[in-house]
Amino acid sequence: PDSKILVSACLMGKPVRYDGRYASQGTEKLHLLQKQGRMVLLCPEVAGGLPTPRSPAERISDRIQDQTGKDFTDAFIRGAEKALTMCQDHNIKIAILKEGSPSCGSDFIYDGSFTGTKINGSGIVTDLLRANGVSVFSEHSIKYALDLANR
Ligand code: SF4
Repeated sequence: PDSKILVSACLMGKPVRYDGRYASQGTEKLHLLQKQGRMVLLCPEVAGGLPTPRSPAERISDRIQDQTGKDFTDAFIRGAEKALTMCQDHNIKIAILKEGSPSCGSDFIYDGSFTGTKINGSGIVTDLLRANGVSVFSEHSIKYALDLANR
């Protein structure tokens, strides 16, 4: 019950998204988790060395590119590795990450055409964490993730 959870920084009001904004100010459940000192916040893209704001990027197979074809894969991978290290350092087994992101998405991402087209898939942070035994959920499954963490 005192286990820590990794949370996407943009879900807690941190203006770290590509557009310099945040996705959400956090739900009551997440604020409680934070008050209990069980939340570890991270933006993997910023941790990987990318600036804010930055070009919107999408995942195409194992590469991450912006609309002009510029490749950001290395920075995204660095960010994913930082996220994994953070999980290992804090013995984190559960993460709540922002849906749809090429880093943090867990059920869907955008298809690489920059037309807002969603496809089933996940981001590269999610893939690396899942491959290393961390269960990753989106902001749409917070209750489920917390129930699992509190077992
Ligand atoms: Fe949010 Fe993840 Fe994108 Fe950072 S990389 S802005 S935490 S979705």
